[in-house]
Amino acid sequence: MTLDAVKSLIREIPDFPKKGIDFKDITPVLRDKEAFNYSINMLAKALEGKNIDLIAGSEARGFIFGAPLAYKMGVGFIPVRKPRKLPPTTIKYEYELEYGIDALEMQKDAIQKGQRIIIVDDLLATGGTAYAVLKLIEQLGGIVDSLLFLIELTSLNGRKKLDGYDIISLIKY
Ligand code: 5GP
Repeated sequence: MTLDAVKSLIREIPDFPKKGIDFKDITPVLRDKEAFNYSINMLAKALEGKNIDLIAGSEARGFIFGAPLAYKMGVGFIPVRKPRKLPPTTIKYEYELEYGIDALEMQKDAIQKGQRIIIVDDLLATGGTAYAVLKLIEQLGGIVDSLLFLIELTSLNGRKKLDGYDIISLIKY
């Protein structure tokens, strides 16, 4: 398996979920046991040598990659969710998505001050989602070690939005 082989499984769906959006569908990667396994292993490899306490992933595809990665790294996982999904007490951050406005919540007791966190998601587009997650982490006194993505859509300038942070992506468009 190679990252190019994983990339070849990613489907481009025009006009989803809205006209003008060219959606990268990762579900064929998930259902291919070798590609999914390899993707998680390569994400873990990118974190080698890092001293981290937790992985944070946002609903829903951040869970799919973040949870197995946390398991493999032997660290805990923090679910970051859409409003009113997590039991109280939560903190909230509103942000602009590639297709609309949304908000994310994290539990107030999810992080202890000074803990080092990796933010994981399937894809970096404008960076709005990852920015919301890092704001929630920092509000609780956590340290964002780096942000890790399987896919990066470079033309949408997510890196600029996340300027100053260490960003790692494995497959670029
Ligand atoms: P951003 O906030 O960086 O603009 O968008 C990234 C977030 O939206 C991620 O949580 C990602 O799962 C989702 N997303 C946006 N565009 C796509 C896409 O083309 N494919 C997939 N799989 N997710 C996307």
